[in-house]
Amino acid sequence: MGDVDAVVVGAGFAGLYAVHKLRSLGLTVQGVEAAGGVGGTWFWNRYPGARCDVESVDYSYSFSRELEQEWDWSEKYATQPEILAYINHVADRFDLRDRFLFGTRVTSAELDEESLRWEVRTDRGDVLSARYCIFATGALSTANMPNIAGRESFTGDTHHTGQWPHEGVDFTGRRVGIIGTGSSGIQSIPLIAEQAEHLYVFQRSANYSVPAGNQTWDDEMRRAIKAGYDERRRLSRESGGGSPYNAHPKSALEVSDEERREAYETRWKLGGVLFAKTFPDQTKTEAANATARQFAEEKIRLLVDDPAVADKLIPNDHPIGTKRIVTDTHYFETYNRPNVTLVDLKAAPIEAITPSGITTADADYALDTLVFATGFDAMTGALDRMRIVGRGGVSLSEYWSEGPKTYLGLGVPGFPNLFVVTGPGSPSVLANMVLGAEQHVDWIADCIEHLWEKDHDAIEASVPATEQWVEHCRELAAQTLFPLANSWYMGANIPGKPRVFMPYLGGFGAYGRICADVAEEGFRGFEFSRSRTRLADPVG
Ligand code: FAD
Ligand code: NAP
Repeated sequence: MGDVDAVVVGAGFAGLYAVHKLRSLGLTVQGVEAAGGVGGTWFWNRYPGARCDVESVDYSYSFSRELEQEWDWSEKYATQPEILAYINHVADRFDLRDRFLFGTRVTSAELDEESLRWEVRTDRGDVLSARYCIFATGALSTANMPNIAGRESFTGDTHHTGQWPHEGVDFTGRRVGIIGTGSSGIQSIPLIAEQAEHLYVFQRSANYSVPAGNQTWDDEMRRAIKAGYDERRRLSRESGGGSPYNAHPKSALEVSDEERREAYETRWKLGGVLFAKTFPDQTKTEAANATARQFAEEKIRLLVDDPAVADKLIPNDHPIGTKRIVTDTHYFETYNRPNVTLVDLKAAPIEAITPSGITTADADYALDTLVFATGFDAMTGALDRMRIVGRGGVSLSEYWSEGPKTYLGLGVPGFPNLFVVTGPGSPSVLANMVLGAEQHVDWIADCIEHLWEKDHDAIEASVPATEQWVEHCRELAAQTLFPLANSWYMGANIPGKPRVFMPYLGGFGAYGRICADVAEEGFRGFEFSRSRTRLADPVG
């Protein structure tokens, strides 16, 4: 198909911005996207109740002030259709659509060590040659369908939340089973319950969830937000999680009972995932964490009528915040409905999926529709599914066989000019991922400009810098309670996946400063090279 300067894989928030940014530098760019349109996560996850859990005014692009000022979010946490409409608006406004091959999956990317160019192949037979490869393939884009015995035999309808049909699903009059009580399950359960004749929730592990406290925005509120946008963004960039909120200045154990309760109450009202960051030591010491757990348990008990059901809904296997806290709308109250049954898989595990439903160790459940809210092969899944081959014929999957190894999450030794956006080793899923993607893409663009200035063909993470970064990430995780949870952050949801805490835990602001320093110091920890052939110098 031809030579380009850069191939960008993925048309979610990250890929779209990468195409926009690199094109503005004058590069020829080819985007490739497996989906039939733009949106990434928001293209695929169309299940009922799908919303963001970072406030929309923050979970949106900051690169264009005009865009910020002209777009009106209708509520605090926008729904999937509204977010997808926003991304489509961005694609049109910045004329990005025609830069993509849609409905096309990249199957391989192989380095030519002579020319230091990447040969990228797709499932539609395209062959592209590119100097730079940007993988904006998503941290949560590869659906996990668990291998439960008899899965294929089920004769009713089956859906995965991450591959939801565009025409929607009508649950009216149906006996529905849902497996999974992570964010996707917890967001969809209340709405499915409103429609279904009966909903059976198959829960393996209970999860912490905090009501969203969603609000619609009126014009006055929108004006106020827009007037303060610059400051809001500044605070977000400096914060731990990419939102304009900071933890309480003291330890949860230093303050009085009253002050602690008040702080938790304020965060509970703020809504959702930020409850995990009420106090700075909340995910660092068991004692601090226990105070937050106790508060959350009391809230759950207030919401659920049947104490025996409440008992099952209270997590007992992980410190609060070490799995992503869910941001819900009427989740716990849903169990007060007569047409909802909580099935505790810890007490009686699934034995098989049968043609007519699910058999657990102690009962048969007859079902018409089965929903898998079973999550994703996170952070490495999309990359693992391509054949990415670097120096010496070593594949990325081989290089990462004991867990992902990156320098800053951005570069991998042996894979020159290959950049991963919001991948393992970066704050990634622990921070507002739109700002994370912008920060990465801006850094990559600076890096490419540096290569031109210095007349280098390639940049590549060095082995020592990578080893140090991997160790630093491991140490940061070891100082927290995160490794205690069987979370997808740890790869624990996928059988056989190495157990390594994948995101960088040092905070979004601190990470941004490290990346900026590295660039400032001439891309410290990276090595530069010239191609042996100097074929087709892409930057002219
Ligand atoms: P994605 O949006 O995942 O896009 C990656 C794209 O790459 C996909 O469209 C995929 O089809 C494509 N792709 C992958 N492999 C290939 C290939 N081989 N060839 C071609 N194309 C390929 N994060 C937050 O910060 N706040 C939130 O509120 C939030 N809510 C979320 C809600 C849901 C339901 C989910 C699943 C995730 C949520 N996340 C949230 C995380 C979310 O994934 C990111 O915020 C963000 O949308 C990721 O953008 P991205 O462009 O990096 O990746
Ligand atoms: P998830 O958090 O990984 O949850 C998957 C659920 O499926 C868990 O309850 C898991 O149980 C269960 N499960 C998996 N395999 C199973 C099996 N074989 N048998 C029984 N149960 C099984 O996935 P997710 O809910 O899709 O969320 C993933 C991430 O996407 C979130 O953490 C969040 O970052 C993002 N997201 C965000 C939002 C939002 O609010 N904006 C919405 C959706 C997703 P165990 O816990 O026991 O493994």
